[in-house]
Formats: sequence, C-alpha cells, structure tokens
Amino acid sequence: RSKSKGKDTFSFFSNELQQEIHRRIEIELKLRQAIESQGLVIFLQPKYDFDSKQIHGAESLVRIRDQHGNIIGPDDFIPLAEETGLIHEIGRQVLRKSCEFVARCSREGEDVKIAVNVAAKQLASLGFANEVKEIINNAGINPSSIELEVTESALMNDFEQTKIVLNELSALGVTIALDDFGTGYSSLSYLKQFPIDVLKIDRSFVIDMDKNIQSHDIVTAIVNLAQSLGLKIVAEGIETQSHFNGLKALGCQLGQGYFMCRPLEMEHFFAKYVDGTAVA
Ligand code: C2E
Ligand code: MG
Ligand code: MG
Ligand code: MG
Repeated sequence: RSKSKGKDTFSFFSNELQQEIHRRIEIELKLRQAIESQGLVIFLQPKYDFDSKQIHGAESLVRIRDQHGNIIGPDDFIPLAEETGLIHEIGRQVLRKSCEFVARCSREGEDVKIAVNVAAKQLASLGFANEVKEIINNAGINPSSIELEVTESALMNDFEQTKIVLNELSALGVTIALDDFGTGYSSLSYLKQFPIDVLKIDRSFVIDMDKNIQSHDIVTAIVNLAQSLGLKIVAEGIETQSHFNGLKALGCQLGQGYFMCRPLEMEHFFAKYVDGTAVA
C-alpha cells in the first residue's frame, strides 16, 4: 500500500515486510519466554551403527514448546537467535541438558554419547571452551561422551579464532564433527588444520543418491575422503531402505534418519533406549 491511497493506509513498509517483522517479533518473544521458563526442549535422534544395527549415541535437537504446547522447530528460531545473541544462552541450556542426560543414563549403567550443535557465534567467542568444560564438569561426565557439531561456515567465519577454540575443545576431550559436510565452501585443507574427528554427510546428498549419479558419486567421494583421513563418517537424512543399503555398501559406519527413527522427546528416548520400559 502507498501514501496515495490516503492517510489511513499510509505505511513505511509493504505488507509482506510488515508480516515478516511481526513474525520475528513474535518468535523473539516466544524464544525469550522459552529461555526463561524451561520452554526449550531437547529431542534426541538416535545414530545407528550400520553393521551391528545398535544405537550409537544420539544428536540433540532443540525445539521451543510455547505456552499453548505448540512445538516450534530450530529452523524457525536459530537464525534469529544468532542475530540477537540469544544463541549463547540457548547453547548453554542445550549443552547443560544434554550433559545431565548423559549423567542420568550413566546412573542407569548406560554409556550414551550425545552430539550437540554449536552455532558459529558460540565458536567465535573466546570463553567458549571454558564454558563447555564447566558444564561438563558440573554434570560429572566424561568429556568423551560429548560431541560438538560445527558447520563449515562456522569454520570460515574467523579462521584463527575458531582454530584456537576448537583446539581447546579438542584438548578437553570432546569430539568434533563437521556437520552438513559438502554444502559449505571450505577447502579440504581445513580438514587437516582443524581437530576434526567426524564428517557428517549432508542430507541433500543422501536424499537422491539412488536417483542421481552425481549425488552418489559425491557420497562415495566423501566416504573415501573420510577413510583416508582417518575420520569417522555419519550420514544424515536416511529416509529409505535403499539409502541405508547404499551407504552401508559404501562403507559408511554410522547414520541417522527417519528410516531408523525420528527425533524423540528426551523422556521417550530414555524410555525406549535406556530404561527399556517403552512398549513400542
Ligand atoms: P542438523 O544439525 O543438520 O540436524 C539434522 C536435521 O535433519 C534435524 O532437523 C533433523 O530432525 C532432520 N532429520 C533427521 N533425519 C531426517 C530425515 O531422514 N529426513 C529429513 N527430511 N530430515 C531429517 P531439525 O531438528 O529441524 O534441526 C534443523 C537444524 O537446526 C539442525 O540441522 C541444526 O543446524 C539446527 N539446530 C538444531 N538444534 C540446535 C541447537 O541446539 N543449537 C544450534 N546452534 N543449532 C541447532
Ligand atoms: Mg547437527
Ligand atoms: Mg546436519
Ligand atoms: Mg542439516
């Protein structure tokens, strides 16, 4: 709408922009409420070992549960959280809850390894490794029970700074995974310069590896690369038996995806895989 339509309809912004601004304000509000009132919930998606078909840890995936009980997914609020700096507090809460979960499983006699996503901004902050150390110590768990997933773009952000923080983290004993591998712009030489333990093949390659020869070739190349560099490989987004078989045939060890299991609420995960009391 424009000024020419009259005083009542005057606005600086187009309708779409207004809606977008409204949406962001609403999400930011829900995010702040969630941070303050235990509204951040962790879902856990199991990772499977292709050979043993046993579960081999899980990835922590954060959601907001709002006051009406609705679930809001991370794609809708993580970018905003990064912009506003709220990501630091979210990251702390997710890591704390994940470490406490590891401790709880360990009291039940189960060693569970949890992978936690780390945003670029967190990785770029100087005190980050210390913060991680403190949270792990407070939970009384072994650092090797925690894997931190970082993205290629986070590595590109601030090379020297990121390198320092990653080396500190690695020295702590947590493992480092490179998430969404193949979608960023990092050069392969990065793999040697950073203390990386695991490559996670991005879902976009897995999704059409059985239809698209190029995707299949890329997955093959990533698996071979990982093997020659001595890195573990985790495939994400496995949705079909055919994905599963294809990846296994290529020598991929670990994977996660809807085909095996969707992300589960923490309590559900606990009942199903740790406590063993779940019916299904
Ligand atoms: P990601 O780390 O690459 O996580 C994998 C995403 O793929 C998750 O989406 C997961 O639910 C989804 N997924 C798993 N298996 C399948 C499958 O078979 N098919 C399909 N279509 N999707 C599958 P989700 O939970 O919506 O998370 C999206 C992204 O949000 C994550 O991507 C991660 O980048 C970010 N994120 C999630 N939790 C956190 C967090 O605690 N901190 C930070 N900084 N980022 C997070
Ligand atoms: Mg991840
Ligand atoms: Mg990923
Ligand atoms: Mg992804």
